[in-house]
Amino acid sequence: MINFNRDYSMTVDGRVVDAPAILPAFDPATGKEIARVPDATRSQLDACVQAAQRAYSMWKSSSREQRSNALNAIADQIEQHAKEFMALLTREQGKPRAGAEWEILGSVHWLRKIAEQALPEETVEETPDRRVITRFTPLGVVGAIVPWNFPVLLAVWKIAPALATGNTIIVKPSPFTPLCTLKLGELCRTVLPPGVFNVVSGGDELGKWMTEHPGIAKIAFTGHTETGKHVMRSAAGSLKRLTLELGGNDPAIVLPDVDPKAIAPKLFWAAFQNNAQFCNATKRLYVHEDVYEAVLNELVAYARTQKIGNGADPDTALGPIQNSPQYEKVLEYVEDCRKNGYRFALGGEIKRGHGWFVPVTLVDNPPENSRVVREEPFGPILPVLRWRDEADVIRRANHTEYGLGASVWGKDIKAVERIGSQLEAGTVWLNEIHQYSPEQAFGGHKQSGIGCENSLHGLMEYTNWQTITLNRKVDFGRTAAPKAA
Ligand code: NAD
Repeated sequence: MINFNRDYSMTVDGRVVDAPAILPAFDPATGKEIARVPDATRSQLDACVQAAQRAYSMWKSSSREQRSNALNAIADQIEQHAKEFMALLTREQGKPRAGAEWEILGSVHWLRKIAEQALPEETVEETPDRRVITRFTPLGVVGAIVPWNFPVLLAVWKIAPALATGNTIIVKPSPFTPLCTLKLGELCRTVLPPGVFNVVSGGDELGKWMTEHPGIAKIAFTGHTETGKHVMRSAAGSLKRLTLELGGNDPAIVLPDVDPKAIAPKLFWAAFQNNAQFCNATKRLYVHEDVYEAVLNELVAYARTQKIGNGADPDTALGPIQNSPQYEKVLEYVEDCRKNGYRFALGGEIKRGHGWFVPVTLVDNPPENSRVVREEPFGPILPVLRWRDEADVIRRANHTEYGLGASVWGKDIKAVERIGSQLEAGTVWLNEIHQYSPEQAFGGHKQSGIGCENSLHGLMEYTNWQTITLNRKVDFGRTAAPKAA
């Protein structure tokens, strides 16, 4: 029986590994320490890479069926312990029960669906003279570096395609949310061959060592754009393959024909799901001037009905900010708005106390060049902006170095599609938002990332393509007859 409340250790080569130093983990709803986890040393990472390389020499030749079974075995472990995982995720991340359920059951779904995906060999030429095929071979050891907002799902988005394509993996959770991932490693010790799936914990430095490590062939990274740039620089030393899933500043454009009351809850959750600690949260809400006041008022009214509190309380809709540095950062945005005299339609008042709570804050039409519009607060503060001219709002929506997601909302489908088709983002949702699937490619344009996750495109990112040609008509000349003895 796994004890989810204590005893966290790393999983390396299928074994329990502790570290000489420890890092504390906190409950963001109380700010209190709830656990201690190993802080891996550099030599422990080296040992882990060696174990993952040894396992790779066997795993790369495993059958597709063995690899699918492995993904399903991980899914079984999560499913069998789903309640404990949900409670632990709420405890360490802060998200309310519904969000924890979505993430944990979503992880099971993703593992099972990616277990069904495969990259068949492509036949380029098949003639009496020649055969040419392109096939997809694994890379080696993958290093997965994960953030704290969706710690389990975003780890699974890397574990599943890496193992499915014959790589082995070392997962490093965020130092702010290591617990569920360490538990997952622990549960998988007995169900996967040693060294195939390893989990190490530590601070940002551990991530850096991974990106520099010559024994790691690819880094699958999700996190800040600035960290992504460090990862890219440091991975250059050994020309590692990279998937970078980075920050966003997603616009939502609302047309004049919407029903303000009906759309307010949808727009609210577009922005405040996971307490706005969401790469794809709507971070700039452009509302047509004809409905601007009405939509803003309905948003305020709806927001007042949503309870902020400890995610473990059943009636909580929005939890705390996950960690103390992020809490201070969000407060900076609130303070910047106050200092510049922008009007708060809601919120803007911070009462420091136990836990890292920030009230839902709506900023009424701040300038386009304000920090809250240009940057990614990654917390529950949303600028609501007026627009009049279609070409102008498209220009404003695209005027950002980010390009992760975007959405358009309105009854006039032609207009919705026309606007949507001009937005520069990896995912453009029309009259819906945050619909993801293992079959749907997900990634960022511009500085929101490189490469993608999910779908066969995502799977391909964990492989080398290899072209093999065969000349069937080769003439090696006559073979000399053996001489008589
Ligand atoms: P972060 O960049 O601070 O940390 C992410 C991970 O990188 C952590 O595990 C951290 O320990 C590690 N790390 C830090 N410095 C490193 C370095 N120099 N080298 C290697 N690893 C290092 O990000 P965060 O605060 O955990 O997450 C929030 C950010 O993630 C936001 O910008 C958000 O938009 C982005 N995000 C993007 C996606 C996406 O799919 N595009 C999804 C979720 C979050």
